[in-house]
Amino acid sequence: MAGARRTSRDIRSDSRLDVLHAVLSATETTRNEIARSTGLSPATVATVVGELITEGIVVETRMSVGRVGRPTAALAMNADRGRVVGVDVAETYVRAVLFDTALEQIGFAELERDEHLLEPDLIVDAIGEVLDRVVAQAGLAREQVLGVGVSLPGLVRSSSGISVFVPYWAWHAVDLDHLRDRVRLPLVIDNPLKAIATAELWLGRGRYVSNLVTVNLGTGVGAAMVLDGRITRGATNSAGEWGHSLLVLDGRLCRCGRRGCVEAYVGAPGILQTLGEIAPDHPLLDATLQRDAIGAMARAASGEDADPAVRETIARTAYYLGAALADLVAVVNPAVVTLTGWTTWTLGSHLLPAVREHLREQAPGPSILDLELEISTVRGNSVATGIATIALERFLADAGLITTHIPLAL
Ligand SMILES: [Zn+2]
Repeated sequence: MAGARRTSRDIRSDSRLDVLHAVLSATETTRNEIARSTGLSPATVATVVGELITEGIVVETRMSVGRVGRPTAALAMNADRGRVVGVDVAETYVRAVLFDTALEQIGFAELERDEHLLEPDLIVDAIGEVLDRVVAQAGLAREQVLGVGVSLPGLVRSSSGISVFVPYWAWHAVDLDHLRDRVRLPLVIDNPLKAIATAELWLGRGRYVSNLVTVNLGTGVGAAMVLDGRITRGATNSAGEWGHSLLVLDGRLCRCGRRGCVEAYVGAPGILQTLGEIAPDHPLLDATLQRDAIGAMARAASGEDADPAVRETIARTAYYLGAALADLVAVVNPAVVTLTGWTTWTLGSHLLPAVREHLREQAPGPSILDLELEISTVRGNSVATGIATIALERFLADAGLITTHIPLAL
């Protein structure tokens, strides 16, 4: 587990990350408990904890006296070391979430966006505005914010530099200087799948397994992958676009322009399209917002008088999702697949049992021997949490506390 992860990372950096992860995951812990849970030697733990205390990242909260022996110091993350902000830029909203340095959410601000207004300047303004708002609401001075992470869909790194390429947005070339000027704080940017992978690595099942896929289900869908303890980025930071892999040859038209993509079946609009195929006049199809329609589906799926068309839609969606996950599992062979994203929070519990069954039936036997499929334990907006975690990681790297393998954009 922790040991397996360590093989693929710099040892010194990794012992610090392991200690940080151990402290983060426990409300309160001790040096002995950290040594037990990470497999690091007590001497290494003592050294690393000492460094983290010196930098104000970890604090000794109190001394407890056991029945025998010397008093033991309880350790916790120093939540008040500073603040980090994660900004999730999505099709229909821009949300800034404020975290303390124990990665507990302490505030948020959101702007709804008109999905037809996609000019880069408007998006940069929206990012600046939610950031200003969340900082003001918390009564913070700007310098108390140690870092800001911004998640941009379609963020690509190539030999010619960083660009944002969102095929369904008019935003093919974002002016990153403009964004940096507007934010005026240490800034990292990455794409949402990499943010989700980071959240899972620091706060979810990624703490315990080396091979993990987190599937994001919302308007779009994608797969965040951690393989052999490392986030899978690919040559241009574009790995994980599983939503645009093929589920049905010559199937439904996807918004990317191709036919038969996974997203066209298990993205929120795809789920509603399935409902429309089953019950063309269903009243839920009149909802103007996808979130309202999917939320109403979850309510209509429960109880004695459950709506049969909705139940059938959920059954078919589980079939599509199970089949598409079987391909992903066949290629990647993860130990754990977790589901996240707003469709998961709404419909996940209805989908999960049938998805598990279809996955088991369709994935190649050896790949699912030890496979677990679960709903992610990272709650809230995992994109905002993940990108804020990357901002914290950047701060720790700049302080010389970790050598991160994450290529930090700005
Ligand atoms: Zn597509």
